[in-house]
Amino acid sequence: MPASMQGEMQPSIFRFKLGDFEVATIMDSKVIRTGLTPSFGGEAAAAEIKALAAVNRIDADRYEHPFTPTLVNTGKELVLFDSGNGTLSAEYEQLKGRLPPGNLVARLAQAGYKPEDVDVIIITHGHPDHIGGLTKGGQPVFPRARYVFGAVDFDFWKKGENVREARKFNRELYVKICLPVADRATFIKPGDEVVPGIRAVEAYGHSPGLLAFHIESEGKRLLNWADTCNHYVVAIQRPDLHLDVDDEKDKAVATRKRILDMVASERLMVAGFHMPFPGLGWIEKTGSAYRWVPHSYQLNL
Ligand SMILES: [Zn+2]
Repeated sequence: MPASMQGEMQPSIFRFKLGDFEVATIMDSKVIRTGLTPSFGGEAAAAEIKALAAVNRIDADRYEHPFTPTLVNTGKELVLFDSGNGTLSAEYEQLKGRLPPGNLVARLAQAGYKPEDVDVIIITHGHPDHIGGLTKGGQPVFPRARYVFGAVDFDFWKKGENVREARKFNRELYVKICLPVADRATFIKPGDEVVPGIRAVEAYGHSPGLLAFHIESEGKRLLNWADTCNHYVVAIQRPDLHLDVDDEKDKAVATRKRILDMVASERLMVAGFHMPFPGLGWIEKTGSAYRWVPHSYQLNL
């Protein structure tokens, strides 16, 4: 009897030491999306995107889009950045087939943690794939956690002014999921320290108040850039292109270039929510061109 096929098996948790901190990137879920084009750069950039995909040996018509929260154990507190998709696609007809079901709680368990172990949840911005795992059937998933929101982002979604058509339902979700926990939340601005070693960095544009986070322990550093760049080839090699899911497109372009320059010149390691698993890498800058250098074994040494 030949051995039977066992099906795909892929890693979804990666944990490493960052100074005295322990950091884990945990893939909540992933989805295969169609077409890097016209999402990036619109129809006008279609030929360029196809050429870029070919050069980078990826398919221009289908791409993997992972959702990967970052977990930091500082030794004093367990800090979770973003919450993945949760049960949104099961609870809301509008999201069926668009967002895969989240697996964060099950994968946290594999990593040794229960939801009640999480002390702090930092929401980088209010898009569904970042807030969806906070509640299940209206109940909080992380019962002991305090919440941290960017003040600009929270105010934007709370006020609900100038929300573009494509984000109207997102705003409804935000009102349902995030506004009720305001009394357990703190609201921060760029430069603020959340807990010792974790500090907010302005990354406005993809969402009006998107925050990145600088994480540092014993001189080891990491930038969690959240959704500053949403694809490891296109958004990094062509940061100037408008992206359909960016809320303030010109600001998102300026932010991408500023953050890419910063991480390249400081040789800063990056954790990116939508980068290929484990979502960790560096940025190489040659002339004016940027390139994602994925983690291979640097963190294992
Ligand atoms: Zn996202």
